Amino acid sequence: MKAYISLGANIGDRFSQLEDAVHMLHRLEHIKVTNQSSYYETKPVGVTDQPDFLNAVVEIETDLAPLALLEKTQSIEQELGRVRKKKWGPRTIDLDILLYGDENIELESLIIPHPRMRERGFVMLPLAEIAPELQVADGETAAEAARAFTGDSGIVKAEKPR
Ligand code: AMP
Repeated sequence: MKAYISLGANIGDRFSQLEDAVHMLHRLEHIKVTNQSSYYETKPVGVTDQPDFLNAVVEIETDLAPLALLEKTQSIEQELGRVRKKKWGPRTIDLDILLYGDENIELESLIIPHPRMRERGFVMLPLAEIAPELQVADGETAAEAARAFTGDSGIVKAEKPR
C-alpha cells in the first residue's frame, strides 16, 4: 500500500531530526521510503509564538496495517524525542499519516485522510511536489489543493546548511 507521511520539527537541529526520522522509517521492516519532498521552512500556524518549523512529506510503500504504521511513526517520535532530550535538550519531531491508499479510517486514535491536511500549506505544498495527481478529496488533486498556498510567504523551500 502507498501511504504519505508529513514530518515537522521546530526545535533543535531540525534538518537532522527530519533526516533521522526518514532513515528510521526506511530501515524498518515492511516500510520503504519511495519518495521525499524538499524541505520547507514554515511559519507556525495556530500557536504563533514558537520557532519556525521545518516540514517535509514522504511517500512510503508498506504492507503494515494503518494502526501498525501509526505505532511505528509514534515509536520514531518517541525514540527521537527521548534520545535527543538526553543529549542536546528538548527536541521535537512530529509524524502524521496523511493518506493510506484511498482508505477512509475513523478510529479514536487514527483518522485518515488526516482531517486538517488540506488547510495546511506546509503539508499540501510538499505533498503536491511529490504527488501532484494524488486525490486528496473527492475530485480534488494535491496540486489543486496546494494552489491555495502558492505565493504564501510563510512557506519557503529550504536548503540544508553545509
Ligand atoms: P499530535 O501529536 O498533535 O500530532 O497528535 C497525535 C495524536 O493524533 C495521536 O494520539 C494519534 O493517535 C492521533 N492521530 C489521529 N489521526 C492521526 C493521523 N492520521 N496520523 C497521526 N496521528 C493521528
